[in-house]
Amino acid sequence: MVFVAFANFLCQHESMTKQERLNDLSKRMRDVETPLKYNAKNFVFSDGNIDARLMLVGEAPGEQEDIMGLPFVGPAGQLLNKMLVAINMDRKSDCYIANILPWRPENNRTPTRDEMNLFLPYVMEHIKIIKPDVLVLLGGTSAKAILQTNTGIMRLRGHWVDVNGIPTMPTFHPSFLLRDVSMKRYAWQDLKQIRDKLAEVQK
Ligand code: URA
Repeated sequence: MVFVAFANFLCQHESMTKQERLNDLSKRMRDVETPLKYNAKNFVFSDGNIDARLMLVGEAPGEQEDIMGLPFVGPAGQLLNKMLVAINMDRKSDCYIANILPWRPENNRTPTRDEMNLFLPYVMEHIKIIKPDVLVLLGGTSAKAILQTNTGIMRLRGHWVDVNGIPTMPTFHPSFLLRDVSMKRYAWQDLKQIRDKLAEVQK
């Protein structure tokens, strides 16, 4: 009986459209019990084109994102948009953007390991649904969570890794680049690698 119910669930899931699967994921994520949701104003799921070849995963919503319910709309988002334009990518039509956490941690503190682990299965499902050609991990928190490593972003950035068959580039978080402009030249190297990989990989 349980097997039949599970098989039915799987079949239903298989026949769902991408958008329906995302809606279902978003609902389940919103329902996850965590103190974070009681301090935040809005749930922040994603932005961009669900059929984009490039998916970017950041850390967690900041103040502006919390107010607007969208990822990367504050100062870091403005810089991210410029970085994408530099490789001829439009944020809305060519990219899909999400975060490790869908709720803003109070005072923009770094997410804890427990918080990251709580949402990691959902983030991995998110990536599986979008199935991008190339994945970009923005900053140390995103890289640590998705790659399950303690290695810092300084060492990880600029090197391709495999995440469930998807070529993945860890790179600096735009907030970090706003604080340390001298690091932008490394981000530019990473962006060029991302551009070249997109040209190389076909969907
Ligand atoms: N920083 C992030 O990591 N994500 C956002 O959505 C905004 C800022």
